[in-house]
Amino acid sequence: MLISLVKRSVIALGIGLLSLPAYSEVRVFACEPEWASLTQALGGEHVSIYTATSNEQNPHYIQARPSLIAKARRADLLVCTGAELEIGWLPLLIRKSGNPAIQVGQKGHFLATDTMTLLGKPAVLDRSLGDIHAAGNPHVHLDPERLLTVAERVTQTLVSIDVANSEDYQRNLAVFSEEWKEKMVAWRSLASPLRGQSIVVHHDNWLYLQQWLGLNKLAALEPKPGVPPTSSHLSGLVSQVKQTDVYGIVYANYQDKKAADWLSDKTGVATLALDFSPASGERLVQWYERLINQLVQLNH
Ligand SMILES: [Zn+2]
Repeated sequence: MLISLVKRSVIALGIGLLSLPAYSEVRVFACEPEWASLTQALGGEHVSIYTATSNEQNPHYIQARPSLIAKARRADLLVCTGAELEIGWLPLLIRKSGNPAIQVGQKGHFLATDTMTLLGKPAVLDRSLGDIHAAGNPHVHLDPERLLTVAERVTQTLVSIDVANSEDYQRNLAVFSEEWKEKMVAWRSLASPLRGQSIVVHHDNWLYLQQWLGLNKLAALEPKPGVPPTSSHLSGLVSQVKQTDVYGIVYANYQDKKAADWLSDKTGVATLALDFSPASGERLVQWYERLINQLVQLNH
């Protein structure tokens, strides 16, 4: 009796080993909340996600601290922005993780900006011009069109890692894309009054949103990218802003609001803090809709 029981479990184990390598779950390390949210939507029940940063942090500057390294060590898939956004911390994190699955060139190493044309690629790379992104502007999650492309590529990656659940991943992609495309139509019409309006930004990280909505960037509060606003630069902006019909002064929720408030005080132009990324647990579609609504309602 006992022997037959043992024999049966050995056989069961043998069958299990021969079948497809189904993951109980794909462990995902997402650098920013937008990729956590997207991968959750596409991976559904087959993924467990750790998000390295919250939407209250500036993703340009993160410490590769031991707790992050430990999470990266156990990940099957890394989903990050790339294009040098995380250049200050991600390469070190990947190296220290010692995890072969997420090294550059492996299928567990996914960068949203790979194989994508980026806006704002500097013609000349001159570091004296500030902390510029040599590969182009990496903040592609603000572009609904590019986001659909990223969704397709994340799905392909999930399928390649966990082929046993490929049907589920494809179905999730279809659901995500359908809703997203419907929303894009709605957002476009909702935001049509913004077309041609000028804004002042804190840092040049809204480029894709500006382009999609047809907003013009008049100026940035930072004198150079990554360099905090100075009083001389801000004073120079006052007359420029007064001469133009400026719709708003836009900054990311994690940025210091002092400079924006100061300029608003001097010019009467309204300020707007936008969440640069989804809040924890927030769906991408909810977050983007929030941005559009806040922008549209700014002067009402
Ligand atoms: Zn940036």
